[in-house]
Amino acid sequence: MIRLSNVHKSYLSGGKPLHVLKGIDLHIHPGEFVAIMGHSGSGKSTLLNILGLLDQHDTGEYWLDNVRVHRLSEAQAARFRNRCLGFVFQSFHLVAFKNALENVTLPLYYQKVRRKDRKRLGLEYLEKVGLRDRAGHFPTQLSGGEQQRVAIARALITHPKVILADEPTGALDSKTSYDVMELFQTINRSGITMIIVTHESDIAAMAGRIIRIHDGVIQG
Ligand code: ADP
Ligand code: MG
Repeated sequence: MIRLSNVHKSYLSGGKPLHVLKGIDLHIHPGEFVAIMGHSGSGKSTLLNILGLLDQHDTGEYWLDNVRVHRLSEAQAARFRNRCLGFVFQSFHLVAFKNALENVTLPLYYQKVRRKDRKRLGLEYLEKVGLRDRAGHFPTQLSGGEQQRVAIARALITHPKVILADEPTGALDSKTSYDVMELFQTINRSGITMIIVTHESDIAAMAGRIIRIHDGVIQG
């Protein structure tokens, strides 16, 4: 599903280059559930953003779904993201003035799916995350765990092959974190490749495989 070979990434930080990824080699098979761990500042988000085509690597090779992705235009990257990737973030990234159903169906709105079909699909996906009865609630009327489940339903509604989640439980208490990870496990069993970033080892332990970044490379 994903193959990285000798991937490097530097930032310019206060005029000086900061070498964050120093030769990442990584192979993720279709249907895997991988947790990426590492200290704060070790480059986990940088790696996830490259995997998700939200940022570009400097050198090295990246194949995603058997396509070599390098120096894509923003339009090409966006098409790829819409076709095969779903994203979940620590702070949920819900639209505050839209209710749960509208948030979940936002990607369908951009795909110009008809209103009636959007509603039917939106309720179906809210059902999948156990929130059908919250369809009319706005983000402020939902708990953190519920907001994250709305965000997960939104990521699922376009049938991604891979879901990328950056610290998806970082803003949640431990019981809610566990529930969200159980939901990810269910999603993963349906065949979707899951890649999450976390610094919590009990969360990472619920994935199928743990990868650690240290000094810009993958350990072990
Ligand atoms: P992590 O997610 O593991 O905490 P990040 O990938 O966010 O780490 O960041 C890795 C390093 O790169 C950090 O030192 C961070 O300050 C730096 N960094 C991240 N993004 C940028 C950027 N856009 N510009 C400059 N430096 C950045
Ligand atoms: Mg990070």
